Amino acid sequence: MQEIRLPLPGRDTGYRIVIEPGVRLRLGPVLAPFRFPPQVVVISDRRVARLHGAAVLDALAAAGLAPVLLTTPPGERAKTWSVVQRLARELLTRGAHRRTPVIALGGGVVGDLAGFLSSIFMRGLPFIQVPTTLLAMVDAAIGGKTAIDLAEGKNLLGTFHQPRIVVIDPEFLRTLPRAERLNGLAEMLKAGFIRDRDLLTQLAAVKTRLFKDEAALTETIYRAAAIKAQVVSRDEREGDLRRILNFGHTLGHGLEQASRFRLPHGRAVAWGMVAALTLSERLAGLDPAEAEWGRRLIRDFDLCRPLPELDPEAVMTALSLDKKRQESGVPFVLLPRLGETVIQDGVDLRLVAAVLKEMIGGG
Ligand code: ADP
Ligand code: ZN
Repeated sequence: MQEIRLPLPGRDTGYRIVIEPGVRLRLGPVLAPFRFPPQVVVISDRRVARLHGAAVLDALAAAGLAPVLLTTPPGERAKTWSVVQRLARELLTRGAHRRTPVIALGGGVVGDLAGFLSSIFMRGLPFIQVPTTLLAMVDAAIGGKTAIDLAEGKNLLGTFHQPRIVVIDPEFLRTLPRAERLNGLAEMLKAGFIRDRDLLTQLAAVKTRLFKDEAALTETIYRAAAIKAQVVSRDEREGDLRRILNFGHTLGHGLEQASRFRLPHGRAVAWGMVAALTLSERLAGLDPAEAEWGRRLIRDFDLCRPLPELDPEAVMTALSLDKKRQESGVPFVLLPRLGETVIQDGVDLRLVAAVLKEMIGGG
């Protein structure tokens, strides 16, 4: 079993991220050291529950625990107050108390929602992350952010609530649809671009065979998760270091918004990284051959399919929401070399617009 220790500054206890194919079937023993009370609550969306709920519940029951399964509708729509309230009432009905652990079994949505609920129910319950999407394994489940959405925007209500442990089983990914895999791949590539050139080399060696090669998959998940853990443990709240995780996301968010969220996160971030590599070449001294190698790697993972009818003006509007930004430029995470970051504070919007036009035009 591979393991990452995630220390939390200013506290004596951190937490562990454990990674091993099949570990979901040993969830009981993995949780035993925590001496939780027998009743544990598993929160999952209906799709994940149908595919993986029984195996996980059996594994918990086999260890003498008494698991209760609560489900939500799949997808971002579940991240609402009304779902939180319904789940909270179900917790009460089932007799949950301050020490009842909540296990999030699912992707980033379930993690955000169950994490949020567990951070506020009776002022906080112990929380465990069991991510089932690649995106959640390498990104969303690590760092302790929780959130729900409002009609006005995503993730507007949230808390920081660190899990007791994160349990990653790459075998969950066998059932993950291709489009969902791409979302996680974009974050994995991001981890390599900002911190680990070797991870990129490793990913380049396996390319789309990654999901057929379980050893390579486990190893690259481990490395990407370790990078996220390293960054957030040094900077638990939103500080300067955490900003490097925005690589590819500045323009990525603009593209998502301009597409009214029809463009999946992974593809938006992929295009954002392509643009950031070009900007890095022009503004941060990234070697053009390295920039091109990086862009080709993103394309090789099939993350750069042509953008839907996107209005470049709408993207730029999303990027320069306030006037101050229009005058002083946008902050961008750039790479002087692959694996190293620099934050450039005032990138000229005209330059961003030019790179965007090349991309949207050229594909
Ligand atoms: P993300 O992790 O990207 O934030 P979600 O939590 O919304 O995404 O999960 C994306 C979709 O994938 C949901 O419809 C969810 O039910 C489904 N899903 C999650 N994990 C798996 C899995 N291991 N196999 C199949 N489908 C899954
Ligand atoms: Zn992201």
